[in-house]
Amino acid sequence: MNRRTFLKSFVAVFICKWMPGIALAGTSTNPLPRRSTNKRTTIQRAMARQSGFTTDMHGDVMLSAGDYRLLCTLTKRIARLQVSAGHGNFAVMDFDTALNHAHYDPHIGSFTRAETDFMEEIFHQDARLYGFMGRKPLQQITDSVQKQEFVRIPGTGNYLFTGRSLATYRRMSGDVGNELILTSGIRGIPKQFYLFFRKAVRTKGNMSLASRSLAPPGYSFHGISDFDVGSVRLGSDNFTRLFTRTDVFKKLQDLDYVHLRYTERNHLGVRFEPWHIKVI
Ligand SMILES: [Zn+2]
Repeated sequence: MNRRTFLKSFVAVFICKWMPGIALAGTSTNPLPRRSTNKRTTIQRAMARQSGFTTDMHGDVMLSAGDYRLLCTLTKRIARLQVSAGHGNFAVMDFDTALNHAHYDPHIGSFTRAETDFMEEIFHQDARLYGFMGRKPLQQITDSVQKQEFVRIPGTGNYLFTGRSLATYRRMSGDVGNELILTSGIRGIPKQFYLFFRKAVRTKGNMSLASRSLAPPGYSFHGISDFDVGSVRLGSDNFTRLFTRTDVFKKLQDLDYVHLRYTERNHLGVRFEPWHIKVI
């Protein structure tokens, strides 16, 4: 099938035999939301999505069986790429470099034409199709971060943009103390592909469900400014509501220059993320 036409069928909700654990997500097609949609209805939908970030919902958009198989193979290839390049390097890697790196490393293997076409389709897909209503700060799949634009934050394995991001993080560290840690910084396009695809594999191809807790590639503000913080004591639970019980979060609430990208009652169709710092 021509990749350019696959998105037309993409909106159909598939319930397949190879998805033994998947719940019935819906039975109708889910056309692109139109701008003329009643604003209150749009907001209500977005807020309903917020609370359903762990479960399938009626009208969710799912991949076809064939595309889900491709997604699984592709995600494994990107995982090998991340190991080969190193997590830090991979986080700031651009798309073309990722393709080249894979091509010359036999342990990764070149991305196939079907895989690169799939990534292009996903990147250029309007995420409102999934119910994700956030803005898209990166418009080109080849958008890259220049070396002079970022610095490594010691002890974290993460990078931050110099300028406002770095200044905000340092100010926060000074005000909150050593308990505050950087848990995720800059994410280039390939890194966001990997995180979003890994989530979509776990959701059995439910792209809407994946987008309720991870911005699709191009839509993440980690690509231009934002970063995540946590408490040194919490580990992976920093990305859960447990973070709101920590002293770090309580101290952050008192800082008037700290703002969250995805607030508790946001209208973007994204879960509450008390750890995600909005920079611009
Ligand atoms: Zn984040």
